[in-house]
Parts: sequence; C-alpha cells; structure tokens
Amino acid sequence: MQEVTLTCPHCKWEHPHTLTPFIDLQKQPKQRLGILTDSLFSVTCPACKRQYTVLHELLVVDETTKWAMMLIPNTEHKQVNGKVTGREDLESYTLRLVSSTAALKEKLLIWEQGLDDRTVELCKLYLSLQLQETEYQLFFTEQEKEGDTLYFTVLNKDGSLEGSISCEFGLYSQLHVNAVSFPLQKGYFSRIDRQWAEQSIRNSVAQ
Ligand SMILES: [Zn+2]
Repeated sequence: MQEVTLTCPHCKWEHPHTLTPFIDLQKQPKQRLGILTDSLFSVTCPACKRQYTVLHELLVVDETTKWAMMLIPNTEHKQVNGKVTGREDLESYTLRLVSSTAALKEKLLIWEQGLDDRTVELCKLYLSLQLQETEYQLFFTEQEKEGDTLYFTVLNKDGSLEGSISCEFGLYSQLHVNAVSFPLQKGYFSRIDRQWAEQSIRNSVAQ
C-alpha cells in the first residue's frame, strides 16, 4: 500500500488516498475484478463524491502460473529489468511490461485461458493485415469453450468499438511455433505488442 495526496480534478479538493502498487492474484483474488473493471484505478472524491481515474505503476504477480506483469502508464520502454522489483524469485517467471490498463486486462485474459501472448500478438497482426486498417486496434476477449475459435474486439483509432473479429485456433497453432522462437531477454519485463510482433517478423526475415 502506498499513501499519496491526490487533487480531485472536479472540485480541486486535496485528499489522502491509498494506492495499490502490488497485487498477488493468489492471495488477493478479488483484485482480478479490480483490474478487469478498472475499479483499481478509480477514486471517489470525499468532498464532491465524483469519481476520477488515477493511473499508477502496478506489479501483478501470479505465483501459481509463474507470470508477472508490470504496468507503467504510457511508458515508451520496450523492457524493464526485473531486478527493480527487488524480487529474485521473479527471475524464473514470464515477465511482461504493459503501458495501458487495456493491455493489462488483455494479458490477464490471455493467460487465464492458458494461451501464449506472443502467439496472440501474431494472430492479431495477421487479422489486422486482413482488415487493411492499420489504425485499428485488436484486443483479445475470449476463447470459445470448445477452444477452436479466438475472439477479438476491434477498436478504431479513436478507441471506439468497431465490432469483433475471430480466428480459428488452427491459425494460433500454426503461428505458435514462430512466436516462441523469437528470443526474449531473461529476467526482463518485456513489452509484447504489435510493434514487437512486426519487429520480430522483420528480424526473422532478415536472418
Ligand atoms: Zn471532488
């Protein structure tokens, strides 16, 4: 927990607030919903009672599946050394860096489905090229129960909902071999997004 003083953007009232900079999903399973609904980043002003959003750095760890995610809002970094967390046990974890709460939610959903986020990024890139709309953003939403279709939400460049798109699990399986062959630096929180997917494919073609 981290005590901070915030200023309400609505009424300018200064008030103390407790931020949650760390979540252990095994010990705090309720925080899963806090992430998925953004309530983790929502503050209610004690004076005017209106709500506003406070984005902050966050480390989310799942000790069972051994993955951890670091949220650094709007960061340009492609990776961050895992040592900054002061936790040596994370060395053996799958470490990811995200710069938005949307990416944080998406990664959580991907991992919960037992999928590999690198492969999902390649699927998204493939689907984006089919859409021929370079400014569209795709976010993984769910895997059909039978497991043979993956669904994605499509947002336009203003962030508004355009619809959804899906791909067969066969595409995922096909791209998986490639996705896991792209090297990542061990012990670093890596950013796995569209830029990563494009760069990795360019590198593999150049070799
Ligand atoms: Zn207020």
